[in-house]
Amino acid sequence: MTGTVGSENIVDLYATGEQSIIYWTALSEGRLVLPRCFACETTFFFPRRWCPSCWSDDVRFVESLGSGTIYAVSELHTAFQGVTKEQLPVAVVIVELDEGIRIPGRLAKTSMPGAIGDRVVLRFAADPATELPCFVAASSDSQGEHHD
Ligand SMILES: [Zn+2]
Repeated sequence: MTGTVGSENIVDLYATGEQSIIYWTALSEGRLVLPRCFACETTFFFPRRWCPSCWSDDVRFVESLGSGTIYAVSELHTAFQGVTKEQLPVAVVIVELDEGIRIPGRLAKTSMPGAIGDRVVLRFAADPATELPCFVAASSDSQGEHHD
């Protein structure tokens, strides 16, 4: 049960407000959605009711492909929120998505150690409602039986 956060739904565990609930509910359904301002065409993160660029409230969530580049990576050797000792070490990443924004996440064990500049793609667990999605190296993502 690698990556499990227990039997609780991730929405109940992590969502903290109206905009956050939209974001986490989508993740629990296997979709990454990002808030986008339709007044000035800015995609931003974290989810907010108003656009941080122009303060418009014409903010709607749009689906992301979840692909991007590792902006920062750190390997943790201490158990924390939802991570057991047996799962250590874990890699926490900030990924610059192709939409131009940076979001936090975890790197799959199979893609560790990972380095700044590596291409990654968000991958969802079989049960996205109870397990956090994590990033995997884009080269190991299923695009046929291609090997570099
Ligand atoms: Zn705006």
